[in-house]
Amino acid sequence: MVHTSYAKILSTLGPATSDKRTIERLVEAGADAFRLNFSHGEYAEHQQRLEYIREIADEKQMNIAILADLQGPKLRIGQFKDGKIKLKKGQEFKLDMDNKLGDETRVCLPHKEIFAAMKPKTHLLLNDGNVKLLIKKCSKKNAVCEVIEGTELSDKKGVNVPDVTLPISALTKKDKEDLEFALSLGVDWVALSFVQTADDVKMAKKLIKERAKLICKIEKPNAVDNIKEIADLSDAIMIARGDLGVECPIQTVPVLQKRIIKICRARGKPVIVATQMLESMITNAFPTRAEVSDVANAVYEGVDTVMLSGETAVGAHPVLVVKTMDKIISEVETNKQHKLLMEATRPKSKSAESCAITSAARQVAQTLDAAAIVTFTTSGTTTLNATRERPCLPIMALTPCIKTARQLSLLWGVQSFVVKDFSDFEKVEQNAIEFAKKHRLAKKGDKLVVTSGFPLNIEGITNNLRIVTV
Ligand code: PEP
Repeated sequence: MVHTSYAKILSTLGPATSDKRTIERLVEAGADAFRLNFSHGEYAEHQQRLEYIREIADEKQMNIAILADLQGPKLRIGQFKDGKIKLKKGQEFKLDMDNKLGDETRVCLPHKEIFAAMKPKTHLLLNDGNVKLLIKKCSKKNAVCEVIEGTELSDKKGVNVPDVTLPISALTKKDKEDLEFALSLGVDWVALSFVQTADDVKMAKKLIKERAKLICKIEKPNAVDNIKEIADLSDAIMIARGDLGVECPIQTVPVLQKRIIKICRARGKPVIVATQMLESMITNAFPTRAEVSDVANAVYEGVDTVMLSGETAVGAHPVLVVKTMDKIISEVETNKQHKLLMEATRPKSKSAESCAITSAARQVAQTLDAAAIVTFTTSGTTTLNATRERPCLPIMALTPCIKTARQLSLLWGVQSFVVKDFSDFEKVEQNAIEFAKKHRLAKKGDKLVVTSGFPLNIEGITNNLRIVTV
């Protein structure tokens, strides 16, 4: 089974999507990849879901990517005597390291790293940005703040510190344990939360040791400032608009989304747009017009993947949400304007041999009205180059490596297939023709434009272009 859309759907699994039949229905509805969210759930639940996905993929002869999303450092205030307090705009409110229960005047903030990084005239955001504090005075153990926005605060609400780089790693002890567990299950991608600098990316890569590909979640202003360096070191980027919309002024989110997508597409790094895409469908059977436009806009921007979070993890209509997203993607991608936009926003070809071949392959395919571009790949690089071109044609990836095939299924336009014998070029070409016919990507007489490294099996080289007739 193959999904024919170019933009992919990444669906988060949770209590609403735990049984095999529901996950299978998500795949049938258009889900290409699944996210296991380590902010919630037990190990046994993640493992069970992963096993179901692998079984379904085998039964449907598909390659499905599985992503483990690590929670990252979640910073929280302590508790209050009465569970919650009322705040008044302009009042003074203190934060300290004292474990005592809080009241209308103060609460514990048990994170010495935050006090170490705080500066007067910067802001603290509590409860997803609903409470905004301006720091007036601070020391290594406490801070006197003024309430700028917000009227209510309750126990253990989250804290965001948008204006400074916090001296904390993106990987907590829990994240390191979750990472090892997820890698032991054989996940294909790992997503790292609250990345701030290139050092966070290097640290995660060192721990992953190439057992999976790394997605960096952009949700902090300093990650936005360091986006080029972070994108260069990462395997993919997720625009995590939930926290990004708390840490940055909300009106900047669409602007940042456009900028990050452009930076990723120029580098040939896959990019995912996440959070609240069809949020109202958590309860309703019909999305809002604004949500439909949001998904469509991301597709017009040429993102690789659009993500569903609570909509499929805890929502009332998980299968319907995926079907709805799939329909929006198809509608956009069959519209002429989409192709024109992909042409207009195509990044300049890099002056490297492999990029020159891939760019030529796209031109040849378009001139000949070919049915697909075919890439033979071991590491996935040839396919990554092909998808960077956004050719508005299916990109078939033939690889001897199941992990590569699964990882590639998250990428724009890619249909991946595993070939056992990857030594004989002609045989692999024959396989490509058979896969194309079987999955109705091409019919007799159609042309396929094949790019590869030659000889095969050498990683990272694309130096060969051929035209074959089915
Ligand atoms: C987000 O903040 O948008 C996001 C995807 O991260 P999480 O769901 O882990 O908060």
